[in-house]
Amino acid sequence: MLILICDAFDASLPARLAPFGEVTEDMSRLAEAHVALIRSKTKATAEWIAQAPNLKLIIRGGVGLDNVDRAAAKARGIEVRNTPKASSVAVAELAMAMMLAIPNRLIEAHISMREGKWLKKELKRTELFGKTLGLVGIGLIGSEVAKRAAAFGMTVIAHDPYVNEHPVAAMKSLDEVLAQSDYLSLHTPLTDETRGMINASTIAKMKKGVIIINTGRGKVVIEEDLVAALNSGQVAAYGTDVWYSDPPDPSCPLLSAPNVLMAPHIGASSKENLLRIGDEVVAILENFKV
Ligand code: NAD
Repeated sequence: MLILICDAFDASLPARLAPFGEVTEDMSRLAEAHVALIRSKTKATAEWIAQAPNLKLIIRGGVGLDNVDRAAAKARGIEVRNTPKASSVAVAELAMAMMLAIPNRLIEAHISMREGKWLKKELKRTELFGKTLGLVGIGLIGSEVAKRAAAFGMTVIAHDPYVNEHPVAAMKSLDEVLAQSDYLSLHTPLTDETRGMINASTIAKMKKGVIIINTGRGKVVIEEDLVAALNSGQVAAYGTDVWYSDPPDPSCPLLSAPNVLMAPHIGASSKENLLRIGDEVVAILENFKV
């Protein structure tokens, strides 16, 4: 069995996979590969799959499967697996880090000190304590954010059409979440329902000065509408780890918009998570026969 590691995994992975077959990172061997390991960078499109006539299994190290053409894989009888549980804590901690960095003005504080400025009076902070956090999507990651936000003394509410009750968050309609949240954190997959769900019309239903955090998927947001809201102050700040493409096109309007805190899709990239993803990949291969 030839296992092709296409994207960045923990450095220990090739040795851990050796008992299952030959392991290579040489992409020129795609045509020979029986198993392909991908993260976000490789797009397993129909064209890509067509270049891999021996492929039996695609493992996406991570949660979303939006970079895999599952219909094309199915048509060829290729099994597609992901590692859904590994990344929850890593992504939740990044969402919390953004939610803390923005009201604590950490980026401006750091940059201004580097520039020799002392903005003690100017950098007014606000607290998470007592604020309402609205989660859109309360699956594995949203639930980890909910626990952490509750520990900070936030009131946690959530909208998720597929979850009726939650031990930490009060479940609400989308309109209620939009209207009541001081912070809105997005944790849905990218689907036909969620694509563009944060747009001019939904933003108009939010509290003025809401802070939006997106560690879900870039295309859940209509960038132009969000930038207009950042310029008008309807949205006070946007923290995002996710983009229309990785990396974003230089013309992406968020790159030059005010009050945007940006990260290059590092939500799943903690050292601990890459090790956990490796554990899940090993478990999948233990149960897989070519
Ligand atoms: P999950 O499947 O456990 O949870 C997703 C939740 O979204 C589910 O409860 C689902 O019911 C809900 N949902 C679906 N449609 C919805 C809608 N229209 N409105 C509101 N909720 C809806 O997945 P998860 O592990 O929590 O991951 C969530 C998403 O986070 C992934 O799909 C992926 O897009 C993203 N993610 C990003 C990173 C990163 O690096 N930033 C890493 C991992 C995952």
